[in-house]
Amino acid sequence: MTRIQIPRGTQDIMPGTVELWHYVEAKARELCRRFNYAEIRTPLFESTELFQRGVGETTDIVEKEMYSVANPRSNDALTLRPEGTAGVVRSYVENKLYGSPNQPTKLYYLGPMFRHERPQAGRYRQFVQFGAEAIGSSDPAIDAEVIGLAIRLYQELGLTGLSVELNSVGTVEDRARHREHLLAHLNGVRSELCEDCQSRIDRNPLRVLDCKNEKCKTLTKDAPSILDYLSEESAAHFEAVKDYLTALDIPYHVNPRLVRGLDYYTLTAFEIKMAEIGAVETLCGGGRYNGLVAELGGDDMPGIGFALSIERLLLALEKQGVQLPITGGIDCFVVVQTPEAKKGAFILVDQLRQAGVAAELDYLDRKMKAQLKQADRLSARFTAIIGESELANGTVVLKEMATGEQQEIKQDEFISVLAAKVQQAN
Ligand code: ATP
Ligand code: MG
Repeated sequence: MTRIQIPRGTQDIMPGTVELWHYVEAKARELCRRFNYAEIRTPLFESTELFQRGVGETTDIVEKEMYSVANPRSNDALTLRPEGTAGVVRSYVENKLYGSPNQPTKLYYLGPMFRHERPQAGRYRQFVQFGAEAIGSSDPAIDAEVIGLAIRLYQELGLTGLSVELNSVGTVEDRARHREHLLAHLNGVRSELCEDCQSRIDRNPLRVLDCKNEKCKTLTKDAPSILDYLSEESAAHFEAVKDYLTALDIPYHVNPRLVRGLDYYTLTAFEIKMAEIGAVETLCGGGRYNGLVAELGGDDMPGIGFALSIERLLLALEKQGVQLPITGGIDCFVVVQTPEAKKGAFILVDQLRQAGVAAELDYLDRKMKAQLKQADRLSARFTAIIGESELANGTVVLKEMATGEQQEIKQDEFISVLAAKVQQAN
């Protein structure tokens, strides 16, 4: 029989690695608590139309990357979520969070996203995004807070040498003014641009600047910068964001070509990059989306957010050789020396577990020596031995593996003694 394999672009996260995920996810949640962002959980699939409208028809995501299925009971199609913002904003509107006096609404999400991409290092078809959204404030300070939240996560995990690439893509009006000048430039080199870019010129010319093709990059090197077409108000917002970032000691680099793939971005756009992460160097992307909430049927509320994947974060940690402080191993392996002791040991293990101790015993009828080996494999901090003499005088021999120190403890005191030792060490 042929063996069925894992789908392309997905991964199993196995014991031994999943602990890294737990650590990073716990850190992200903990940081959100400190920054006062509350978790929101939205469905893994939504109406396809949500992403068409919320992410934008001319984006790579909507054009090429969505997993969609026809909804068998109605005419609308459903799509596995390729990103988090559209669902969060849909929920924000649906639950009328804009009507709450508690503003801005600060939310975070952590969960799988799905994109039909060409798999490579740091690029998967299912990946986990951590993202945050602050909806209901235009204050440039919150732009800096959102960027800061992502940066602090990376910093607290031990990454160094990150840079924030920053731009303002202006308002719809700013972009309209910029557009004719940009078009004039792009039309001048049209025939030499890649096929994708040629079609982008007519549909969303700013995105030509986002093309990863080296030839396109060179051809558009001197294209007019959006930053030269910002209104006074937009320019002031950009200046204030930079000022707040400096105040937080977060270095940034203004990159006027940074446009982000998504249509709904306004004003602040940013990416966080690492110097040398190989094929994929962007760790995090985000920006302002004033206009998205109204686009999805809510009051006209401004918003800003970011998204980063845990996969690229772990890849970055690996590249920089950062060891996360993961402590594995069980607390106590109960070794059974004679078959008569088995039932007592079985009860003891259950009692230990109830007392908060991670405990295990043998289930393969191993000899004592093999049981000790198993204890070793499980990195047990203690072993407890119950044998004939221990049974006779109601004691347990407790051994601390690191020191080799042994002590004989009365069975009725054993649970509390060990629980106390374990608690002390934790
Ligand atoms: P890229 O240009 O690398 O395709 P993107 O613009 O599509 O990125 P966003 O939609 O902004 O990325 O997603 C935000 C973050 O999510 C990225 O910076 C990256 O960390 C992560 N990410 C995006 N796509 C993938 C993927 N296929 N696999 C793993 N992580 C991803
Ligand atoms: Mg992409």
